[in-house]
Amino acid sequence: MTRRVTIEELAAWLRARDGFALIGHVSPDGDAAGSCVAMAMALQALGKRAFVCLPGGMPAMYARYPGAEAVVRPGAPAPFAPRTAFALDVSDEGRLGDARALFDGCAERAVLDHHATNPGFGDVCLVDGARVATGELALELIEALGVPLDRAMATWLYIAVSTDSGNFSFSSTTPGTMRAAAKLLEAGVDVAGLTRALYRTRTLGKTRLLGRVLSGLEISEDGRMAWARMTDEMFAETGALREDSDGIVNDLLEIEGVEFAALAETRGAATKFSLRSKDWLDVAAQVAQPLGGGGHARAAGCTIEAPLEEALARVLARAKQALGEGKTD
Ligand code: 5GP
Ligand code: MN
Repeated sequence: MTRRVTIEELAAWLRARDGFALIGHVSPDGDAAGSCVAMAMALQALGKRAFVCLPGGMPAMYARYPGAEAVVRPGAPAPFAPRTAFALDVSDEGRLGDARALFDGCAERAVLDHHATNPGFGDVCLVDGARVATGELALELIEALGVPLDRAMATWLYIAVSTDSGNFSFSSTTPGTMRAAAKLLEAGVDVAGLTRALYRTRTLGKTRLLGRVLSGLEISEDGRMAWARMTDEMFAETGALREDSDGIVNDLLEIEGVEFAALAETRGAATKFSLRSKDWLDVAAQVAQPLGGGGHARAAGCTIEAPLEEALARVLARAKQALGEGKTD
C-alpha cells in the first residue's frame, strides 16, 4: 500500500534513510533529469550517499552541466548498492522502463511527481498535479530538508521548471512557479546562458529533422487537428538524436486554428505519441489515458503496440471524437 505524504513528511522520511538511487522516467526530459540531479546533490549535502539513474542516460543537451557526469544508466555499474529508491517525475511504474528492477530491488521506495494521472506507487508517495514541474516540488523538498540551495542545484531545478513550463509560458505556469524561479535566480542561476542553450540553440541534426517532420505535416478538414510522423529513416538521414524529437509537436500546435496536435514516432514495433492541445481539450484524460498513456491536460503521451499508420488512425479517431464532444469545462 502506498502512503500519501506531505512535503514535510517526505523530508522526514528521507532524513531517516540513506543509500539512495534517484530514478527518472524513460526518455528523460529536463524535469526528470534536473529534479533527480538536484535531489542527489541535496541528499549528498546532508552527508548521505546518493546517485542518479536515468533510463537511456542523461540527454546530451544537459550533459555539460556539473553533476551530469555522475548519472548512470540502468544495468551500468552503480557507485554502491542502494537501499532506498526515490522516483522523481515518474507518472507510473511502467515509465521506470529499464530502471524498474533497480526501483523494485530497493528495500524502500518513495515517489515525487506532478502528473495528475499518477495512480500512486512506492511505499510513500507525493503527487501534486497542480505543479508545472516535479522540479517545483523538489525545490520545496530541498527547503524542507534544510539544505541551502547552491548554484549547481539551482541550475538543475531551473532546467526542470523552465523546460516543463515551456520556459514559463504554458497555462500550467502559476505564481508559485514564478516564486520558485525567483529563488533559483537568487541562488545564482545564469538565465541568459541557460535560455540561449535550452531555447535558442538547435543542433544541425535536429534542424534537419524538424524540416523533414514538418514537410510531412497533415491537417484535418476542419483544421482543428494537425499530425506528423517521425520514422527511423528520418533519424538516420538527418543525424538527429532520439531526444531531438522533444518539442517538435509544439510546432504543429502553433498552426493557427489547431486545437489538437499529434506527433507519431516509430519505436521498434511500437509507436510513441506526443499529444498536445492548445486551449481546452484534455489530451491526458480524453486521448492518452483511454489508449494506455497519461500526462497532463495540455501535454500527454502514449505508446501503442502497433505499426505507425494503424496506431495513428486510433489516436486520430479518439481525438476526433473528443473534439466532437466539445468543451466540457
Ligand atoms: P512528451 O510528449 O513530451 O513525450 O510527453 C508529454 C507528457 O506526457 C509528459 O508529461 C509525459 O510524462 C507524458 N507521457 C508521454 N508518454 C507517455 C506514456 O507512454 N505514458 C504515460 N503515462 N505518460 C506519457
Ligand atoms: Mn515533469
